[in-house]
Amino acid sequence: MAKVNEGVFFIQGQDEFIPDSHVYVLGDPASNDLSLVDCGLTGKGNYKIQSIKKLGIELEAVKRVIMTHTHLDHIGCISEIRKAIPGAELWVHRLEAELLEKGDDRGVYGMNEFKGMCQMQYGLKSDAFRFTVDKKLEGGESLDIGGMKWEVIHIPGHSMGGIALYHSSLKILIPGDVVYADYAIGRFDLYGANADQLKKSLYRLADLEIDMLLPGHNQIVTAVPADYVRKTAQMWEPYLV
Ligand SMILES: [Zn+2]
Ligand SMILES: [Zn+2]
Repeated sequence: MAKVNEGVFFIQGQDEFIPDSHVYVLGDPASNDLSLVDCGLTGKGNYKIQSIKKLGIELEAVKRVIMTHTHLDHIGCISEIRKAIPGAELWVHRLEAELLEKGDDRGVYGMNEFKGMCQMQYGLKSDAFRFTVDKKLEGGESLDIGGMKWEVIHIPGHSMGGIALYHSSLKILIPGDVVYADYAIGRFDLYGANADQLKKSLYRLADLEIDMLLPGHNQIVTAVPADYVRKTAQMWEPYLV
């Protein structure tokens, strides 16, 4: 849990037998217009809320949750978060927003076997992930939030509506589960995933100048080597067919 840059705070995921995504808090606290990027696994809401408070951030200053994508390890605790922050909006890429609004949870669980296991483990009801989405993103937006400008980039492949947030002058990339530290990439075998799209998304990110990589899991990278994402894409390309 730390400030990684002006207006960018990091709350580390608390993995159990299922991973818990990191949460990033974006925006100048004085703006009273903060955004959470992702929430985390079911049951991790209280940990995330306490972590936000420990950063000295008033919960009322949090206005929205922007999902990089809607897998359970990122969206699982959204109801817990919105109970603590009742006004917080939910912003999701349109393709995954449409699933959530229909109560179609294939994009949350990714596979049937996992769904049964999680519903049993967490006591999740069949309509646990039916939500109204406040803003449907397409990619290409420039979000003016919390006194900062973040570009939305649609990067499908790990999931159909995956997005990255990119700050071009700070050169910070928040890619969800598409690319991680140590030349790792997200899995591409779940519902809505597509290897060829993932390859194209990686090459799209490879064109960006990136100093700081803030992925959904594992290490964050504060001094990204030149061409890191391109090298990662090239390494994985033979498998992404
Ligand atoms: Zn994921
Ligand atoms: Zn994840």
